Amino acid sequence: MTNQRIRLLIVEDSEDDARLLYSELTRTNSDITYTRVDCAEDMRKALLDSEWDIVISDHSMPRFSSLEALDLLKECGKDIPFIIYSGDVSEHVEVAAMCSGAQDSIVKGNFARLLPAMEREIHGAAVRRAKEQADAHVHKLAFYDRLTGLPNRNLFCDHVGRKLPQAEGRSATIYVLDIDRFLRVNNCFGHKVGDALMRQIAQRLQECVPEDGMVARCGSDEFAVFLGNVASDQQARDAAEHIRQAFSRPFVEGTLEFFISLSIGIGVSPRDGDDVPELLINAETAMFRAKSMGGNNTQFYAHEMGAVAGAQLVLESALRKAVARRELLLEYQPNLNAVSGALTGVEALVRWRHPEMGVLQPDDFIPLANESGLITEIGAWVLESACRQAKAWHDAGHPGLTIAVNVSAVQFWQPGLVQAVARVLADTGIDPQCLELEITESVLMRNADTTIMTLQALKGMRVKISVDDFGTGYSSLSYLRRFPIDILKIDKSFSRDVMRDVESAAIVQAIGALARGLGLVTVAEGVETTEQLEFFRRQHCDRVQGFLFSAPRSVADITEMLGARAAAQALPQQKGIARPHRMSGRVGKILTQEFARGAA
Ligand code: C2E
Ligand code: CA
Ligand code: CA
Repeated sequence: MTNQRIRLLIVEDSEDDARLLYSELTRTNSDITYTRVDCAEDMRKALLDSEWDIVISDHSMPRFSSLEALDLLKECGKDIPFIIYSGDVSEHVEVAAMCSGAQDSIVKGNFARLLPAMEREIHGAAVRRAKEQADAHVHKLAFYDRLTGLPNRNLFCDHVGRKLPQAEGRSATIYVLDIDRFLRVNNCFGHKVGDALMRQIAQRLQECVPEDGMVARCGSDEFAVFLGNVASDQQARDAAEHIRQAFSRPFVEGTLEFFISLSIGIGVSPRDGDDVPELLINAETAMFRAKSMGGNNTQFYAHEMGAVAGAQLVLESALRKAVARRELLLEYQPNLNAVSGALTGVEALVRWRHPEMGVLQPDDFIPLANESGLITEIGAWVLESACRQAKAWHDAGHPGLTIAVNVSAVQFWQPGLVQAVARVLADTGIDPQCLELEITESVLMRNADTTIMTLQALKGMRVKISVDDFGTGYSSLSYLRRFPIDILKIDKSFSRDVMRDVESAAIVQAIGALARGLGLVTVAEGVETTEQLEFFRRQHCDRVQGFLFSAPRSVADITEMLGARAAAQALPQQKGIARPHRMSGRVGKILTQEFARGAA
């Protein structure tokens, strides 16, 4: 017998016979250990305490028999090869033993038969075990999520599908949970941290769900939960709140602390679907509604949502093709020197000329672009087009005109932003100092170190950084010191409020003082009235932007405006007074009036 390690359990009342057997076996294999038992209790203990490769059993013993030993083996749930090795066994017993799972029956002393039989059966058992393990592995791959070990969508559908009919009288409820903004965790901290966090999230979810429920991972950052025993919608909502409560504690991964919020959609059986796949889809639709409401909330499925979700999908697939079909276009809104009224630059604002719906404004499709990841492609197109246009204006005799480009938070966290900007600078040949990238306060609030690195890389290329919609986020003013930024754009909500609300006016004052202290340029957005303009001038705001001067305009309109500016500068200036000059068109008229005001 080959020299493989064999752990042998001998069921035998005679120690001499056991020894003889052992010494015969060790002639060809020195690596054999054995234990002898001769009664049910000892055998049970041996089976439960240790692992065995084979059982060699006498048939008839004073306190035990091979048939009882076989029964015990089965009772203990062990799949161990079993060979009867006895002086005389009737054919009747042999048949019974084979029926109970014995592999062979060999007459005592016939080693010539015993040894190959043992080898054959041990090998057979090893093959069986390997196959079982492989089957279990395949099963795991097919039905469990590898990262978290949770059941996957298949197993969830299968398991819950069998439970649905039993939930009579009560409502079986399916929750789809999506982690808000998880993509950013991966983008900022890498997949290793993302994966570890995901495992923690899975663990905490499981702790929230009772034994008879089920948690599954259905997508990259999407989970499904089943609760079988929910009496009312209120209870269903309470259960969701219970989960959200559990997530109010932060997750700690290494030295990092994460606050995770969930968007939850609820589907109730049988109201929202007859089978699990339908319930899941509807709960998912409700989850998307929760997400579109800003995340961190719970929504029940309602039939109208199906239509809205369908419309979103149609819009998304049209947006996917919009860049290639040249359906996107840019308008440009001027910003002016607050004192002189001179046009200092323009902000590029994207529009989508939809083939059926007409021109859509950014609020109609930028959130969708962010959500679907399409913002990367759209943002790249905006950056490139705006820089190319600005360069054309520079070359046409308007050097120094600044071009502001909006960069959404999703876009900012996407890898490759710095490279994309560098490429556009090189391709278009624009003076980098004329490019102002507008980021939002929320970008500054997330993971400061990564943000600072990205901003520094951009600053290294001499591009200007502008904080858009400033004052709407939560950043304390002193927080700004940490970031290499150049411009603060005061959110348009302040323009609206400064004239009637003392607090807003005080905030703008504080922002102005801080900006001056940090050497930042301030821009007031959404200036619609002369009173607002006067207010911002008193606060020493550097630039203004708003409908008072001009709404966002086409390239042709801006070109006309620039032409008028050049003509104005060509005329002799009266000392200390910015002068109105001949300008044509509506835009020109407004700007002309503003020059006059600036001079007043
Ligand atoms: P934003 O960056 O704050 O852009 C200014 C928005 O305020 C523009 O809206 C503009 O039309 C509007 N606006 C300008 N002056 C006034 C005013 O006096 N009063 C009022 N009430 N509104 C004024 P728009 O073009 O609809 O853009 C909305 C937002 O969409 C932008 O806000 C920006 O966050 C986003 N967006 C626009 N283009 C892009 C883009 O290319 N990429 C990204 N990521 N976002 C963009
Ligand atoms: Ca902006
Ligand atoms: Ca803004």
